[in-house]
Amino acid sequence: MDEIFLSGNRKRLSLKRGKDRVVANRHPWIFAGAIGEESGPPDAAIGDLVDANGKRLASGFYSPHSEIRLRALTFGDEEMTPELIVSRLAASITRHRSLLTDATNAARLVNAEGDELSGLVIDLYNDVVVVEVSNAGLERIKAAIIDTVRRELRPRLIYFNNDLPARRLEKLSTEPEAIGDGAPATTIVENGLRFEVDPAAGQKTGFFLDQRENRQLARELASGQRVLNLFSYTGAFGVYAAAGRATSVENVDGSQVAIEQARRNHDLNQSSTIATFSIADAFGHVRKLDAEKQRFGLVVCDPPAFAKRRVEVDRAARGYKDFNLYSMRLLEPRAKMLTFSCSGHVSLDLFQKVIFAAAVDAGRRISILRRLTAGPDHPVSIYCPEGEYLKGFLLEARE
Ligand code: SAH
Repeated sequence: MDEIFLSGNRKRLSLKRGKDRVVANRHPWIFAGAIGEESGPPDAAIGDLVDANGKRLASGFYSPHSEIRLRALTFGDEEMTPELIVSRLAASITRHRSLLTDATNAARLVNAEGDELSGLVIDLYNDVVVVEVSNAGLERIKAAIIDTVRRELRPRLIYFNNDLPARRLEKLSTEPEAIGDGAPATTIVENGLRFEVDPAAGQKTGFFLDQRENRQLARELASGQRVLNLFSYTGAFGVYAAAGRATSVENVDGSQVAIEQARRNHDLNQSSTIATFSIADAFGHVRKLDAEKQRFGLVVCDPPAFAKRRVEVDRAARGYKDFNLYSMRLLEPRAKMLTFSCSGHVSLDLFQKVIFAAAVDAGRRISILRRLTAGPDHPVSIYCPEGEYLKGFLLEARE
């Protein structure tokens, strides 16, 4: 693997005049528009960005097919070597592992830019490690990633979830790969609750680890309440709410597979008797519940990312407004609502405006009690604010 780091095997990219801010700001994404000439082998995995005098400004993973031409890992004099990557990887695993306890054996161990490893995500699910490699440079040093993960974690299985849009763009294989024993499915414990996670069949790497702290909040708010869990996926918020002594929990998701898993997760935590499960479109379902005059003491709205691209932001905002409006109508007096957007392109400011518009049209008096974000195993690089995709509010209806 080390040969890809040799200077003759690296791409040399010159920074266009007037683009100095790109480097000064240490943003790890260097776009094609900031790059003038390119020289070096076409299949280079590593690139160096240089100024007009040939002085190195940054080094990182080179992607010929992506608008993000270089994912910078080092700036200025710092050498980009295999040792540097392996030591960052080991340090990230050590930092994140400190969050694990007897009651929680699942966490994100590497959060891409947030852990200074652009393009790499590693999640631990009990005895299974799920890895997402989203650029060609990382793909070429996969052996070192596997060695480090094995040494640090000794998992039963390492599963490469390769079904990623970024890999398609980079013309990398999208077939999954498993190294180790047995199937990728496993059972995790999170805050003392048990969940079946199947990295091969599920969304993301199998489970929404980023919501752990917000699920704990739902548990604290659920006591004595009727709870509606919209976009429930495998029922995680619902299981927490039941553990917090909700009187009933309704899980709603459009996916039959997700709802079946939600049912099994409630079974695993002995809360099936108070739970119901609806395979339904959440937009239609909130209207139906409103027409039936159903009311809830806690509503959770955790939809998928509606805006995957910038051009989709307006349409996404209309979507968020629509079911937030109907969800607010379902709130009992003094009920709480946890509402989220995980669209990177929808800013916190825009999301708050959408919630405001929903409250106006719902005719409810709504206050924000807390702003919510992802847990501490999802650090955000100060230089790459795009990493802060998850935004949420804890709302309260005043009457
Ligand atoms: N809250 C979950 C994660 C939600 S992921 C957790 O903590 O685990 C988003 C979910 O929304 C997915 O399961 C997807 O199947 C579902 N979904 C997407 N569009 C939907 C729609 N229109 N109606 C209902 N569910 C939908």
